[in-house]
Amino acid sequence: MVTTRFAPSPNGMLHLGHAWSAIVAHDIACERGGRFLLRIEDIDGARSRPELADEFRRDLEWLGLEWEDVAAQSTRLDSYQEAAARLVHDGMLYPCTCTRKEIEAARPKLGPDGFVYPGTCKGRLLDPSRPAALRLDMDKALASLGNLTWMDEIAGEQVADPRPFGDVVLVRKDEPASYHLAATLDDAADGVTLVTRGADLFAATHIHRLLQELLGLPVPTWHHHGLLLDEEGRKLAKRRESPSLRDMRENGVDGRALADRLRAGSLPSGNTLANP
Ligand code: GLU
Ligand code: ZN
Repeated sequence: MVTTRFAPSPNGMLHLGHAWSAIVAHDIACERGGRFLLRIEDIDGARSRPELADEFRRDLEWLGLEWEDVAAQSTRLDSYQEAAARLVHDGMLYPCTCTRKEIEAARPKLGPDGFVYPGTCKGRLLDPSRPAALRLDMDKALASLGNLTWMDEIAGEQVADPRPFGDVVLVRKDEPASYHLAATLDDAADGVTLVTRGADLFAATHIHRLLQELLGLPVPTWHHHGLLLDEEGRKLAKRRESPSLRDMRENGVDGRALADRLRAGSLPSGNTLANP
């Protein structure tokens, strides 16, 4: 049985791009007689606004979707800690105290997701008295594993290629995990068999596939769907004032009809759907 999920972060209102993401995940589960889960990704302490989770539920209801709630990330911190401890024990993580400024001063290369960490702290040992982020020793991780592949329903079989990301942060200095670690662990814990999300997270899957192997987690299939773009061809974003679902809901827009229009590929004026 297929299990999909929608995993929004409560750091801003949902917009049409999120609606599309939720609809894709919901409809696939529905068509295949599976489950559709809602997981709130609320471990970004500084930006997280817990009260938004209920707004998100109202948005999904308004779109006519049905879902099952699973535990929010903020209630799963022990599982992140436990996994990080295992990776530390296996020698896969090292502490890093570099500031952003220090990293930029080292003139790092640009990778698929911003700067590639130049490795300044590589090999350092954990010192519990000094708060630090924990980075994955990418060379070591890759040396311990053979070739990995993963399957995207749209793009087909992929050879996992996490190397260009370099030594990514898996535990942030001020947070119990990074997105990569938390989402990978949660998808396994929630029994997600088909990870549905926007094509903007396609590259991150290379890291997630690696983490699954390091942590002995089951390997799902992925479905990276096309993104809704605005008039200028940019992905819709919370910070760019894309109209929120809540605004539309409160202005009397019919959510179910809107969801059906999106399904039929008839997008609000100015928006386009990019192929993944
Ligand atoms: N929480 C992430 C976001 O809001 C989505 C994570 C995922 O789907 O893997 O962008
Ligand atoms: Zn460092």
